Amino acid sequence: MSTIFTKIVEGEIPARIVYEDETTIAFLDANPLAPGHTLVIPKAEYERLNDVPAEEATALYETIHRLVPAVEAAVDADATTVAFNNGEAAGQEVPHVHCHLIPRFEGDGGGPIHAVAGEPPELADEELDEVAETIADHL
Ligand code: AMP
Repeated sequence: MSTIFTKIVEGEIPARIVYEDETTIAFLDANPLAPGHTLVIPKAEYERLNDVPAEEATALYETIHRLVPAVEAAVDADATTVAFNNGEAAGQEVPHVHCHLIPRFEGDGGGPIHAVAGEPPELADEELDEVAETIADHL
């Protein structure tokens, strides 16, 4: 079963496509959180960012980098929230990697990325040191 975004890539369902190259495609979100809310995806179907091969991840970032100023200019935005819901627990609904480009405006009433997680944990210095080391060990 292909994802709804693969159906867009294959032209089986309509979308307001704003950019396309060999590896990536960008189109307007069907339920925009702001005018110009755009999704950037790899054409190939990977569920999470963790699954995307390095070369395609680079291509994905290049498209994001290209799209951000275009989206901001198109809707005269003051800023952009650029974010992935990476996995179901983070709120990902469509199991096909996608980057949200959400134009932001002074006083739009939205929050920063800091508002998306739960209650901030209280971590001692030793715990922070251990987490940092463990992350480094997994690279
Ligand atoms: P997420 O919660 O990060 O998985 O977000 C999925 C996003 O895909 C939502 O913002 C939806 O509005 C958007 N979406 C779902 N179906 C379509 C579609 N057919 N065309 C464009 N955007 C879509």
